[in-house]
Amino acid sequence: MSEHDLWMKEAMNMAEEALAASEVPVGCVFVRDGKIIAKARNRTNELRNATRHAELEAIDQILSDKELTPEISQYPLATTTLYVTVEPCIMCASALRQMGIREVFYGCGNERFGGCGSVLGVNKELVHPKHAPYDATGGFLREEAIMILRRFYITENTNAPAPKSKANRVLKTDIP
Ligand SMILES: [Zn+2]
Repeated sequence: MSEHDLWMKEAMNMAEEALAASEVPVGCVFVRDGKIIAKARNRTNELRNATRHAELEAIDQILSDKELTPEISQYPLATTTLYVTVEPCIMCASALRQMGIREVFYGCGNERFGGCGSVLGVNKELVHPKHAPYDATGGFLREEAIMILRRFYITENTNAPAPKSKANRVLKTDIP
């Protein structure tokens, strides 16, 4: 297993925690100097707050920790790498750029909301006068990332206003 896959495995553990808590199963870890400095998962249902994606949860941890962020600086994530199970959405991709993230590795693409190329290239295709672009590379534990999302979406979403019965749905396992 490559070093990238090992970090992604840790992110996947957080996605499993999200799944167990009936959240959309996305997890992440932030790595600095060869160590995990923060890990988080989606908490949007728990907090009833659509901005509580795994990445922003972890960023809040890092910025509020005086050891990890001893002083206010423009780019507090300049030496930090993100591993996240799903391509960051447009909101998170932009936040990461504004924080100066060094690099991003992700599992599967996000065809509906992806901000690192799938919908918009917020990470580097879009020109910004101030914030430097960053590389975002997918494909790490991709099949696991897809399967855990399918496991979530095949179960009843009790948070939906009018839950639809998914009792007859079959878990697809083919991945193109
Ligand atoms: Zn997001």
